[in-house]
Order: sequence, then structure tokens, then C-alpha cells
Amino acid sequence: MAKTYHIITIGCAMNQSDSERLASRLNELGWCRVSDCHRADLVVLVTCGVRQSAEDRIYGLINQIKKANPKTAIAITGCLVYRQDIKTKLQDKVIYWFSINELGRLEQILPCYNPDNIKPIKDYLEIMPDYKSRVSTFVPIGNGCNNFCSYCVVPYARGREIYRPAQDIIVEVQQLLNKGYQEITIIAQNVNSYKDELNGLDFTGLLEKLDSLGDYWLRFATSHPKDMSDRLINFLGQSHNLIHHLHLPVQSGSNKILKAMNRNYTAEYYRTLINKVRQQWPDIILTTDIIVGFPGETDKDFADTIQLVKDLKFDQVYVARYSPRPGTLAAKMADDVPAQVKKKREQQLNQMVIAGALKNRQAQIGQRVMVLLEEQRGDCYFGHTDHGLQILVTTPEKKSYTLGLRYFAQITSARSFSLAGQLL
Ligand code: SF4
Repeated sequence: MAKTYHIITIGCAMNQSDSERLASRLNELGWCRVSDCHRADLVVLVTCGVRQSAEDRIYGLINQIKKANPKTAIAITGCLVYRQDIKTKLQDKVIYWFSINELGRLEQILPCYNPDNIKPIKDYLEIMPDYKSRVSTFVPIGNGCNNFCSYCVVPYARGREIYRPAQDIIVEVQQLLNKGYQEITIIAQNVNSYKDELNGLDFTGLLEKLDSLGDYWLRFATSHPKDMSDRLINFLGQSHNLIHHLHLPVQSGSNKILKAMNRNYTAEYYRTLINKVRQQWPDIILTTDIIVGFPGETDKDFADTIQLVKDLKFDQVYVARYSPRPGTLAAKMADDVPAQVKKKREQQLNQMVIAGALKNRQAQIGQRVMVLLEEQRGDCYFGHTDHGLQILVTTPEKKSYTLGLRYFAQITSARSFSLAGQLL
């Protein structure tokens, strides 16, 4: 009987996308996917090492899986693979360890039940994913990071930046559009440093090509402020398909902290960027990431962050309390902001963002937006708008709508991070 597997993914879009390539490779190896981890012969955890909380989740999950089914084999991939301390800690519970870059030779690491059908693959991004959604999906354009922000494990866990040839990306996106996909999000750790050197194409050049492929929603994540060129910003206003949402991590409003984080920009530079982007997209939904309690962050530094968030009126801020990540530069600094202060700063920022976002959303009541329908419950549909906002829509009588397609709706009410409306 075929052996079964289950994948649990923690963390970012890149991990979710990697899981689709992992599933595809496991299927090729003759494994059979099951939806319940307790029935699986193998559970693969695609891990995230960006915060201590994500790491702690892995320990909890492994204990649960082993308790429910002690015979399940556990494999770990993703950001925690490079951590020797974790390997030692989990040596009795985890059998297989492989980096995501090793997917192309997975048959040498895991049991393979289909050896005659395995083709060797040089770069794991060449693997055709087993896409989870039939409507909206991620397409990675590269992997790794060269930036070495002082708090971040990614350059150690994923290695230096490598990018896919533009032609491969264009072919993948075109195939998805031919299958009826409505929304494509191109992803990498740092999308806007993309380069196809052979064809002399930068990120804007790639966006121009993708923009011309059809009528669909095109998104990108994650961008680095230092790589937001004027050429890219000017293109935002010209694009037909880019949805007007930008996630641009600022991390702090204090220049002293930005320097210690090795972010290579100042708060003033970031403000100027946002002003330029808003000239192209006045209706932009702007989201960001902020770390509170980074080593050396004083009340004054935090006040600078508060001021920046107030001034720029973000629609969402993903706030994280700083936790040292072994192997990073920041882990060598004194973690000198007390846990209680970190918590208070996080709460203060969150409260401010919730109130600000509510104002932004309420200003949208009465507007007409396009909605991609993703789920139906009775007479209601759930989906998201052409600005990437979650929305619940009701239907006028006797009209039918198809899941996975886009329709116009009018916004009737709003919460901080979601909308409600009626389909037109
Ligand atoms: S840009 Fe900085 S935070 Fe983002 S992945 Fe690279 S090192 Fe990490």
C-alpha cells in the first residue's frame, strides 16, 4: 500500500509556495497526500525561524503528532534546517532534515516508491507546483536574500539571492491564466531586487512583461524600501493589472534603530517613497511590518515609530516583538528592552493601527469595488477586493454568481480590516 504524507506549513507566502512544490515532488516519489496529519506515515513541517513564537509552534506540533501517532515519521524543511541546536534538541523525534533547495534530489533523502519516473532537477523552482487554489496563487520569482538585516535568519537559512529566468516566470504565469486563474502574486524575499542578467531585465521590466499577459490581478511581495526605484514607482501608475496594494516593511521609525537593523534607509527616505507611491496610486492600501523592542530601542525611538505610523496612515501594520534569532548579528547585541515594555509597545501600536484602519475603511463606504469570490456560505460570499481587502458580500435576489470569478460590489459597511457589501 502507498505510504501517505501530510504537509504543515508555518509562516510566509514563500513557505506556502514551497509547500506546493514539495507536494508535487512527494507525489512524483510515489507518496500519497492525506488531509489528516494523524493518519499520515510522514509529516513534513515547512518551518519558519523568523520569530521565537514560530519556532515554539514547531515543538508543540511535533509533540502533538507523536502523541497521536508515535509511528509517524517527521521531516523538517524550511528556515530551521540550518540550526544545529534545534537538530540536537529534536534528534529523537525528527528523522529527515532537508533544505528546500534540496527538493530536486529528494529521492536521495526520503524513501522513493516510484524510482523509474524521477527526473533529476537542478533548481527546485523548476518543479511544477501542486497548486492549492484554482483561482489565486503564488509564483516565486527567486529565492534567498543578500541584505543581512541584523535580526533576520533568511540569508543564512535560504542562502544568497537567486532569480528565475524571466521566460520561465512568464510561461508559468501564462499557463495559470490559461487555466482561468484570476490572481497571481509573484513572490521572493526581496522581489524588487529581481534581475534576469542574461536578458537585461530588472523587476520593473519583468512586471511590464507580466502585465501584458491578460486581464487579471497581479500582486507582488515582499519589497525592500531601498530597492523601490523611481522607474518601478512610475510603472505602478501605468500598469493595467497591478492591484493597488503595497506591502513595504519599514520595521522602525527611528533612524538609529534602522541603522542597527542594517536596513540601509532612513525614516525620511521611507516617507518620501510613500509620498511618491501615493502620487501614482492615491487609493493605495498600504501595509507594513514593524519590530518593537529591538536592542537599544528607547522610548524616544518608539515615539518616532508611533509618529511615522500616525503620519503615513497605514491600513495594516504587522507588529512583532523582537526576539533574538541565533546566528544573526542582532543576537550578539544585548536584548535590553524588557518583555513587559515590548508587550506594551506592541499593544499601543496595534490599538493605534486598528483605530486608523477603521477610519480608512469607513471612508470607503458607498464605493464600488471589484470582488474575487472565494467561498460561499448560504446567500453570502467571502472574497477580497481589487485592493486586497477581505469582504463579505450578499447577493441581490434571483441572481447567481460563480465562485472563482470577479464581480462588482458596493461597500455598505466596514470594520478595521474587512468590508461588507452587496454584489451588483
Ligand atoms: S530583506 Fe532583510 S528581513 Fe527581508 S529576508 Fe532579507 S534579510 Fe530578511
